[in-house]
Amino acid sequence: MTEYPILIVGAGPVGLALAGDLAWRGISSCVVERSDGTIEQPRMDMVGIRSMEHARRWGIVHDVENSPYPRDYPQDNVYVTSLTGWELGRERFPSMGDDRPPPASPQKRERCPQDMFDPILRRWVERQGLTELRFRTELAGFRDAGDHVVAEVSDHAGGRTGEIHARYLVGCDGAASRVREQLGIPMQGKTVLTNTTNVIFRDPDLVERHDKGRAYRFIVIDTEGTWATIVAINGRDRWRMSVVQAPPDGLTRTEVETAIRRAVGRDFPFDVLSITNWKRRELIADRYGKGRVFIAGDAAHVMSPTGGFGMNTGIGDAVDLSWKLEALLGGWGGSALPESYTVERKPIAERNVREASANLNRMLSPGENPSLCDDTPEGAATRARVGAEFAEAMRHEWYTLGIHLGYRYDESPIVVPDGTPAPPVEHARYVPRARPGSRAPHVVLADGRSTLDLFGRGFTLLALGAQGGDVPAAFERAARGRGVPLRVVTLDEPQVREIYGAPFVLVRPDGHVAWRGGSATDAAAIVDRVRGVLRVGSPATAS
Ligand SMILES: Cc1cc2nc3c(=O)[nH]c(=O)nc-3n(C[C@H](O)[C@H](O)[C@H](O)COP(=O)(O)OP(=O)(O)OC[C@H]3O[C@@H](n4cnc5c(N)ncnc54)[C@H](O)[C@@H]3O)c2cc1C
Repeated sequence: MTEYPILIVGAGPVGLALAGDLAWRGISSCVVERSDGTIEQPRMDMVGIRSMEHARRWGIVHDVENSPYPRDYPQDNVYVTSLTGWELGRERFPSMGDDRPPPASPQKRERCPQDMFDPILRRWVERQGLTELRFRTELAGFRDAGDHVVAEVSDHAGGRTGEIHARYLVGCDGAASRVREQLGIPMQGKTVLTNTTNVIFRDPDLVERHDKGRAYRFIVIDTEGTWATIVAINGRDRWRMSVVQAPPDGLTRTEVETAIRRAVGRDFPFDVLSITNWKRRELIADRYGKGRVFIAGDAAHVMSPTGGFGMNTGIGDAVDLSWKLEALLGGWGGSALPESYTVERKPIAERNVREASANLNRMLSPGENPSLCDDTPEGAATRARVGAEFAEAMRHEWYTLGIHLGYRYDESPIVVPDGTPAPPVEHARYVPRARPGSRAPHVVLADGRSTLDLFGRGFTLLALGAQGGDVPAAFERAARGRGVPLRVVTLDEPQVREIYGAPFVLVRPDGHVAWRGGSATDAAAIVDRVRGVLRVGSPATAS
């Protein structure tokens, strides 16, 4: 019987990101996935800016940038009565090749649909050689045996059932998570926001069939309001149409074909490749684990895709959990670490789920406008009004740097607050701050690197000023004595010092600030707090 340090259930993007991050930390795992790994209908296609920063640490930015998605494909969102009808408005976005990172990051978000992104993650996992990927293997159940977990799996390839032993188990098994169900963790929220039908169809000539040009997404609004979107899923010949408010049982194939012609505004030949009827939901698990078993990704939170937050939130879960598992396996992590995972990540899901639902409401905001498609002065006035209102509303969804970079772990038991007031939570704007709990900000260093490139697999103590010369040594001593990986990086760069706001800043293995201050009266207590040994109320406070 092989015992793995970690068993991951589900090889979706979150399970693969977790397996890859663990391997990047030198930890082996086993991933069981019930499918054969084929992606029949790609869902996600936007890899957010923070996920791309993780990809940078993992060394796979080049793979994402070189995916088959065409780098010259414009990313406009266009609002139309149909593709051959009236254009109501447009938010222009450059192609991936022309786009540039914002000042806040060395990376930018990327367009890379799931049937390109998952294989990139999978190849990266395989390259590292520390993960056993078992496809066509389904988790049937598990039991927490106290010092390890025993999972029952059935192997669809060989028709056998068997057991896998692991020190920890992580359910990355999607919205209908069996792991969450067996843990008895309820979800709160709304079980149905809308019934939606997604269809992937192929037409290599669609761009030539209308006058709106190449664009990433068309939102189709007619006299009854918003009813469909068409997305350029691979920037070439495949398109995903979503009928946003379908009947509860979904649409038949004939209805789907009619809907495609209605959205395009003309008859034309196309191939329907797949149809999925699904429900948008707004759900969050009460907690993200119990004992030796955790959940991550859609298993922990389910949201409307409006905004493209689902997978990106899940990758954030994986990165938060991965170093904590390493710490627990390595014996240097304390009992507050498992609980800190829920405390840190659940509020982020709550915010993102709320934003996603609000985006859905914004997308559905145009009500009935009987004259919208009339070729009359009244029709033109209606189109101008609806287009302007819609464009304004939708900007909230298109500009979300605050969501992707500004998330913070304010209530975390393993972060040492510095007494500064919490800045407002903003969805569009991101202001770089190194307040404990925040993502350690990106600053360009004199040698051209990013501060983000300084943060490695362990803790990093940034020493940014001349004073307090004994602080680094005190942290190094405390960390060494406890087996905590810690590296001191001394920088004489005024801009870093100014943005980071203190002479010493302790950055965690996931790139979040754990502590900052001018001196450390008790480095040992701070190290114990951030590794989850000392509980809140302990003497580890900022000085
Ligand atoms: C139309 C659409 C567009 C979207 N666009 C975006 C976007 O642009 N950006 C974004 O961030 N998110 C987006 N999302 C959301 C995103 O697709 C999901 O959040 C993401 O796929 C979740 O990843 P996951 O790995 O947690 O779960 P999943 O992708 O659902 O993977 C779970 C895996 O677990 C396996 N599994 C389940 N049960 C078992 C079991 N018992 N044993 C073994 N294996 C099991 C499943 O086969 C599956 O492969 C979109 C969603 C939709 C519907």
